[in-house]
Amino acid sequence: MRSRTTKYIFVTGGVMSSLGKGLASASIGALLESRGLKVTFLKLDPYLNVDPGTMNPLQHGEVYVTEDGAETDLDLGHYERFTRSRMGQVNNVTAGRIYDRVLAAERRGDYLGGTVQVIPHVTDAIKESIRAAADDVDIILVEIGGTVGDIESLPFLEAIRQFRADVGREHTCFIHVAPVIYQATAGELKTKPVQHSVKELQAVGLAPDIILARTDRFLSKDVKSKIALFCNVDEDAVITAKDVESIYEVPIVFHAEGLDEKVTQVLNMWTGQPDLRKWERLIEAHHNPEREVTIVMVGKYVDLVESYKSLNEALVHGGLALRAKVKIEYIDSEKLEDTDVLAGADGILVPHGFGSRGVEGKIRAVRFARENQTPYLGICFGMQLACCEFARHVAGCEGANSREVDPNTPHPVIDLMPGQKQVEDKGATMRLGAYPCVLEEGSRAFAIYGEHEISERHRHRYEFNADYKERLERAGMRFSGMSPDGRLAEIIELPDHPFFIASQFHPEFASKPFDPHPLFKAFVEAATIHRSDEKPS
Ligand code: GLN
Repeated sequence: MRSRTTKYIFVTGGVMSSLGKGLASASIGALLESRGLKVTFLKLDPYLNVDPGTMNPLQHGEVYVTEDGAETDLDLGHYERFTRSRMGQVNNVTAGRIYDRVLAAERRGDYLGGTVQVIPHVTDAIKESIRAAADDVDIILVEIGGTVGDIESLPFLEAIRQFRADVGREHTCFIHVAPVIYQATAGELKTKPVQHSVKELQAVGLAPDIILARTDRFLSKDVKSKIALFCNVDEDAVITAKDVESIYEVPIVFHAEGLDEKVTQVLNMWTGQPDLRKWERLIEAHHNPEREVTIVMVGKYVDLVESYKSLNEALVHGGLALRAKVKIEYIDSEKLEDTDVLAGADGILVPHGFGSRGVEGKIRAVRFARENQTPYLGICFGMQLACCEFARHVAGCEGANSREVDPNTPHPVIDLMPGQKQVEDKGATMRLGAYPCVLEEGSRAFAIYGEHEISERHRHRYEFNADYKERLERAGMRFSGMSPDGRLAEIIELPDHPFFIASQFHPEFASKPFDPHPLFKAFVEAATIHRSDEKPS
């Protein structure tokens, strides 16, 4: 194995959140990968939760699950979708985890005699986690969550400041993302917010090499010069990060602005020109759809679309492969009383979820899909509730439910399995990460995957209760994917329905724009067929 000199790119954000730092990092990674470099990522989050697994999706957005079972920030989803990198436990580290480590070491007596302090102990632990994530790659992109100037980010900024001195200036590149705001009354682009946030960085001893100016329009040469002058960077280091219609345009826009060229220059690296043809093809497909389908998603976290990030992307990927524009409509399951609102759906998707709120609305949506031959895809909770609905209305198990929703249900079709540890700690105690699943020959799932054994990522506590398997099978449900020991139901389907499939796992985490997940592609395809049957043109 050739030994690599790893180079480090640090991405910070200024002024406000939601500037698309994660997408920017993923896009830079994609550009460098297309220049033949091996890249990986690390997301450093300054909050005190040990991981985002216990956080409300409405506050934090989706929890992205890696193959090795880490519950992580949704930016890791962008990283995996945009590049060939594989994320895992080491690729998302929060302040909570850092403190957890430092305090455990203190209790063990590792620092015996010493005073434990932010500098050097916390900053050393941060630097260690950067090194741990940077194994055998040419480039690691380290994204610092939060906004420069927050109290919580200080130890992280101090750690990356030291890091530059530790590994040498030519091995590091600092990229700062900040907004340039168009002020309509003055008819001018305002660069002051960028200048101020760069000052914040300078106050902690950091100087950006590149500025990514997030804006709704291209920056003129004059505006770029002004930013360069006041922020102490080269003029060609001011890059317009313009809003785009599709996230898959970002790498192309960055390249046109000269970003990857500048990064390699700062890092003193020689690489070939990037091959961006696959990105161009993707955008071409995005801009020229031949058909359109409407997928209705019935869930609890519909007020924040970020909660279903990977699902949305997987649907888009399925559509891109079929040249279909996928319109996603969200319906709040708590408000779903009259299923007439589902009449226009070409496909219905019930996503993951926790707790009892909105469950009956989801069950109504499942029933509608089943009875009206509308393509249905259930994900995790969406599978569990499909089993409950079928048990109630087809297999004669009145009041069937998940024990999570109704602890006193007469038919606990979904339950904690015998021997499954009762929940004490809530953090990281679910079935997490990739598990194998064996597909039954002749089933629709088998036809879709074209494989006997698959591996998919999980994040749930409850399971299908095997005591009900025979009863549901007799009523017409097929258990087409099971764990290799045959005990856990992983995929169910209804053979006498045009498309009714649900999985206990989360296929959306494995979908990529260039390699759409087969289940999503098949679902979108079924939706296009449903639409053309309904509305012959
Ligand atoms: N709440 C369910 C469980 O814990 C489903 C979880 C999910 O949809 N991810 O089993």
